[in-house]
Amino acid sequence: MEISKLLRPHLLDIKPYSSARDEFEGEARVYLDANENAFGSALEDRWRRYPDPNQKALKRRIGEVKGVPAGNIFLGNGSDEAIDLLIRAFCNPGKDRIIITPPTFGMYEVSAHVNDVGVISVPLIAEDNYSLDLEGIMEAIEPGVKIIFLCSPNNPTGNQLDPEAIITILEKFQGVVVVDEAYIDFSSKPSLLSRLDEFWNLVVLQTFSKAWGLAAMRLGMAFGGKEIIEVLRHIKTPYNISGITQELAIQALDNHEKIVFFVNEIVAQREWLSNELNKLDIVKKVYPSDANFLFVMVEKGHEVYEKLLEKGVVVRDRSQAPHCVDCMRITVGAHEENMILLDSLREMGE
Ligand code: PMP
Repeated sequence: MEISKLLRPHLLDIKPYSSARDEFEGEARVYLDANENAFGSALEDRWRRYPDPNQKALKRRIGEVKGVPAGNIFLGNGSDEAIDLLIRAFCNPGKDRIIITPPTFGMYEVSAHVNDVGVISVPLIAEDNYSLDLEGIMEAIEPGVKIIFLCSPNNPTGNQLDPEAIITILEKFQGVVVVDEAYIDFSSKPSLLSRLDEFWNLVVLQTFSKAWGLAAMRLGMAFGGKEIIEVLRHIKTPYNISGITQELAIQALDNHEKIVFFVNEIVAQREWLSNELNKLDIVKKVYPSDANFLFVMVEKGHEVYEKLLEKGVVVRDRSQAPHCVDCMRITVGAHEENMILLDSLREMGE
């Protein structure tokens, strides 16, 4: 399948903006090409210049850590930017559609709506720990469906989706399959990143916001075939990743062994918290989690959420969302934070 057949037709011959930093590479005596401030900076002098629009050094470093060539990597202002650009690249407004599998991360639907793109929902099967409804997805595929968004491990339910079912979708669907792996570092099961070469239509999303502890940085990664990545590169704004982010992210990648330590701590706390929650009468079910949060069903979900708020404990209330009755999503905190949560829930049960 050629990507050009899926792409919105007007993008086939679009001419991307060519920035000063695109047009000249190498060392010059003076740079008078980008209307920067020649006298100094309100901060440090090194921030005076526009950053590399193609983030070459950062992509090279990410590529080394992830085992993916730089040409297969797109970087966005959070994964949110990649989600929006994928929809803008492939879906014709007022005509095309995406498939989502609720309950799931809300930005797929929001970005589709912002771009006047239709959304077909094929809910996960709640009775089977929110597994993929493979048959339902196959039935929902019709002309005009351009992208299927799968979130694995899924937000808010925490489970990794069956890789065999995802592979079947990748093989049968003649469109783009986005597998959002924002939480993959917390899972004991493998990422689909190692299978990128096998599927022309696979895009894997990962982010610096979770395991890396850098949500404020706003750096998301999309991994995919060269053609798809090239399209995203052409339609992004020229300097979408700031120089500050590029520099700090390279430093973070040099510290990547720290992540293993965080992940081990978080996973240990997750298992402990899940056990403790299960002991409470107020808790009806703690779903198995491959992420850094737990999806928990309680008696009278919304009431519990409100009472937790009164005690200064904020969790994510999903109790009134479709397919999530009485459920909330609880981020795994530090041990002291988890103790406060548990004490607050225990007090409610008394
Ligand atoms: N995907 C999922 C599944 C998420 O839960 C989130 C954030 N909550 C994102 C993507 C967005 O990540 P980023 O901070 O990189 O925009």
